[in-house]
Amino acid sequence: MVNRSDIHNIIVAGKSGAGKQPRIDVLVNEFGLTQLSTGNIFREYVGAFDASGFKGDLEGFFDEINDTFIKDEYIEKAIREQLPDLEHIRPVLLGLKAKYFMNLGRFVPDRTTNELFSEYFSKGGYKGFVLDGYPRTPEQAQFLLDLCSGNDTGMDLIVVVNNSDKLIIDRTIGRRICPSCKKVYHVEFKPSADGIHCDECGTELVQRSDDTVERIQMRLVEFYDKVIPALDVLEKTGIPVVTVEGNLEVFTEENVRRSVMEQIEPLLE
Ligand SMILES: [Zn+2]
Repeated sequence: MVNRSDIHNIIVAGKSGAGKQPRIDVLVNEFGLTQLSTGNIFREYVGAFDASGFKGDLEGFFDEINDTFIKDEYIEKAIREQLPDLEHIRPVLLGLKAKYFMNLGRFVPDRTTNELFSEYFSKGGYKGFVLDGYPRTPEQAQFLLDLCSGNDTGMDLIVVVNNSDKLIIDRTIGRRICPSCKKVYHVEFKPSADGIHCDECGTELVQRSDDTVERIQMRLVEFYDKVIPALDVLEKTGIPVVTVEGNLEVFTEENVRRSVMEQIEPLLE
């Protein structure tokens, strides 16, 4: 049993398209936490790099033979030479590292993802977060455990949002979005008035390039191959895990809240 006020960090996991966001919203409200998404972390640091105006080839910063970046001090020196007035160099340096892999169209490796996560998490004092999209590999999970134990903090709960592969595929391939106002529709469950244009602004609806069966199946495979083993690493250390339903017959804010809290409350004092 844990005291409600002892819940400092929660991890939310689930397949892409399982319905994590409404459950994250519940946890943020109920426990007074802040959502920490890897997507936002990458946007922040890559954004800092882009905004810095640093120009030039990034390849010189990576040592392909040893599969590692050159020392931070050398990268910082190169950044300083070009941008002597830069106020905060650390975010630019981290953004540069992520950008290096993104430019090559490669996955950002665990080591770099961990570095960005760690910097962001430390800025927030290692407490008060709902982690979303991290950790997503066993290596990241181990890194997170070590990071927590070295900083007198921990993960207090794991919430897995459950949803069937079939339902996720059906929901995702039918999804249509408005490219201008970003409103989301579904050809079957939530069509726009004429089925073609956005009700709000009249723009023609499109399908996101990520919402194809092949892409969805790739993300599902990643969940089974990487995220599940990552959760196993965490669970073995005794972090409680609850599973909440990602598909409700009647979707209302209150039903979502209840479906989440009914699973968590038995663990609370
Ligand atoms: Zn629109």
